[in-house]
Amino acid sequence: MGAPTTNPYRLLPSVEEALALEPIAAQGARVSRGLLVGFVQETLERWRAEIKAGELDAKGVEERLARGDLLRSVEARVERERGSGLRRVINAAGVVLHTGLGRAPVHMEAAAAMARAASGYCTLEVDRFTGRRNQRDDRLAELLVRLTGAEAGIVVNNNAAAVVLLLNTFAQGKSTIVSRGELVEIGGSFRMPDVMERAGTRLVEVGTTNRTRIGDYRAAAKGDVALLLKVHTSNYRVVGFTEEVEAADLALLGRELGLTTCFDLGSGLLEGEDGPRLAPLLQEPLVRAVVASGVDIVTFSGDKLLGGPQAGLVVGKRPAVERMRKNPLYRALRLDKVTIAGLEKTLELYLTGREAEVPSRAMLSRSKEELRPIAERLARSLAAIDGITARAIEDRSQPGSGSAPTVYLPTWVVKVRAKRLDAETLAARLRAADPPVFARIHEDELVLDPRTLFPGEEDELVACFRSAVASQG
Ligand SMILES: *Cc1c(COP(=O)(O)O)cnc(C)c1O
Repeated sequence: MGAPTTNPYRLLPSVEEALALEPIAAQGARVSRGLLVGFVQETLERWRAEIKAGELDAKGVEERLARGDLLRSVEARVERERGSGLRRVINAAGVVLHTGLGRAPVHMEAAAAMARAASGYCTLEVDRFTGRRNQRDDRLAELLVRLTGAEAGIVVNNNAAAVVLLLNTFAQGKSTIVSRGELVEIGGSFRMPDVMERAGTRLVEVGTTNRTRIGDYRAAAKGDVALLLKVHTSNYRVVGFTEEVEAADLALLGRELGLTTCFDLGSGLLEGEDGPRLAPLLQEPLVRAVVASGVDIVTFSGDKLLGGPQAGLVVGKRPAVERMRKNPLYRALRLDKVTIAGLEKTLELYLTGREAEVPSRAMLSRSKEELRPIAERLARSLAAIDGITARAIEDRSQPGSGSAPTVYLPTWVVKVRAKRLDAETLAARLRAADPPVFARIHEDELVLDPRTLFPGEEDELVACFRSAVASQG
């Protein structure tokens, strides 16, 4: 018992004293003075709480100060502050439409158009040939009509917004029929029954989870039923003894009974006139075919299989589309100029036969023969790093974002182990790297899928691994 009376609180520097320490003061060049003060206060308060709880004594405080723990803690907060927010990452998970990583990366020309629209003025709501005011999505509607064969179109913020607008326009205060097999939940918070309630329509469920027939819709289509809604089970499949009603049959029934019909497609696979085909690969319905089935409205996402910026695309019969446009809610859900610029460019790529260049489509189309040499090269470079073992192996990738859930794309991946780190720790260090790297973990191995790597990212990836294992200790 050396100096049992030393008060540990007394050993703590004041905030002013801490800020005057050279290495802490140096952090002032990286964040504002106010934030730095806050970070120092936070650390000292945490230490005080530990003293109060009896977890830290005078000796402990002395040791921490001698070790430079105060500086390290402040430094870590500064690092976190500077590394927070949206930043580019390397997607080595192979999930092409990864919602957590921003879904579809847009084409460079679309990105350039978005940057131009963002940084200057543009013809958002004016026709430069007549000088008159027009609708901001007039051109988008024109492109969508050409691409899908629909009579008209409008575009809103995302597909969830399109569904809300649809339900509210045609069935507010009334009922909407949906099959029990199609009451989807997308991405955690978009649950069809909840969305319907908020949009002001009552849900009438028909059929069973695995079988719904047209007679079920007919029998339920009475009273205040206003809308027959079909929902693509984009992120799951019911297999086995199943039966669902075709869009064309629903459209016929709707016309016979004078009810509006809609198909919420979600993923929304578009194909150009004579471009390459993804439909057979992904087993997804084509927007054009669903429009041709005769339903009044078809809704789908801009940033799923289409490969554009986040948006909700609505196409269909002109009177139905016009009713949606006249709904005051449309004003609250409409697109901004940046998204319009990116979406116009993306749709133009489809119309000029260049859809294979859309990055997400190109990634989905990559064959395992194309990916194998990349995986093998990557495995060799990683295996050359001290403390790492890596091997290339055949595997499967998933399209992602609730698109084509039963489809697995044959691929080649690299399986990586670090000798002194478990897979979780290695993954965490890679996420903290610059740029951050996201990979899959399978059976305590890190799995890198080159399907989602852009040209030039291989070298960056290897450098990130080098720094991740070097920082161990
Ligand atoms: C993805 C999806 C939605 C939601 O679309 P967002 O663009 O994410 O808003 C709605 N319905 C279906 C069927 C979907 O697949």
